Amino acid sequence: MNKFFLFLLAVSIPFAQVYSADKSPKNEKVKNVILIIGDGMGLAAASSWMIDNYYAPTCFDRAQFVGISKTYSANNRVTDSAASGTAMACGVKTNNSMLGMGPDTTSVPSIAWYAKQKGLSTGIVVTSHVCDATPSAFYGHVPKRSMSTKIIQDMLEARLDVVVGGGRSYFTDPEKVPENMIEKAIREGFTYADTPEEFYATSKTPIIGLFADGSYPMAIERDTDFLTDAAMHTLDILDENKKGFFAMIEGSHIDHAEHANNAEQLTFEMEEFDKLVNAVFDYADTHKGTLVVVTADHETGGVTLLSGSKDFTKGDTGIEVKFGTTGHSGSPVPIYAYGASAWKFGQVMENTEIFSKIKALLIDK
Ligand SMILES: [Zn+2]
Repeated sequence: MNKFFLFLLAVSIPFAQVYSADKSPKNEKVKNVILIIGDGMGLAAASSWMIDNYYAPTCFDRAQFVGISKTYSANNRVTDSAASGTAMACGVKTNNSMLGMGPDTTSVPSIAWYAKQKGLSTGIVVTSHVCDATPSAFYGHVPKRSMSTKIIQDMLEARLDVVVGGGRSYFTDPEKVPENMIEKAIREGFTYADTPEEFYATSKTPIIGLFADGSYPMAIERDTDFLTDAAMHTLDILDENKKGFFAMIEGSHIDHAEHANNAEQLTFEMEEFDKLVNAVFDYADTHKGTLVVVTADHETGGVTLLSGSKDFTKGDTGIEVKFGTTGHSGSPVPIYAYGASAWKFGQVMENTEIFSKIKALLIDK
């Protein structure tokens, strides 16, 4: 502790509390891991939300340790969500579009599988459809991300405690599936929820919740905090298991707003994401042994935050959110870590290390 810090400690206790490094419990055993993925959320997207808030504290300001994740895939320096989801879920760099397997199509187990083997509870919450690339990386094993029927079969086999989001039509469309997969799930002992309200009213696991035919509506199209509400109900369910749990929660539409180059949609998505992350950080504050890792699978949109004028001698001339592409970019993405052993994530790393670090802390111990 340097002299300057000591001086501040003497004159301002609240300041010292805010900046106390002890806030992140270094040697606390990790019991629960909550991985939050902002799909396509690069540093500029996260920063756009901080700027929108005129630098009032956002969830990102609460991070106790910050790292950088290198997102390239096995066959492309610009990854898609399937390869990067597989990297974070299973710890291997694979080719774009492949899920839960290496480039040679050998299946690899996910962190959710390891957690289940160890007797922990497992949950997945997304605003996209549950057969989309990011959630599927945690239960699917397919060479092509479009193979939704096989992904659903893998999902049923994996029997995670909670899988909720959109995607009803992927389970029921006779052109996609050989039989109604919702009825199959119910036959196999799953609780099925057709609306968020039905989901909030049950805790009988395993639960599959499909709240829309395709993706769940974007934040700009509704007036509910769906992502936060669904996540917190999921954590309540998973918390029943005294051994602990693994959960993955995705703000899926950040990516979609950026693909559309729509700054207004992006703002609404970041607002929803901020509420989610703050709620989960609060949860970690009151649930000992909880580690929260917030990151992205890749950057989308080539988002930049441009000054309204090239004349830097002027005062503020406004900042505009601009997009450089309707696709993904090769920029690395930030990692914001909070809670038990968060310090392990305060470095530059491969996206596969997110898997290996979580596995070391939660499974291998
Ligand atoms: Zn995308």
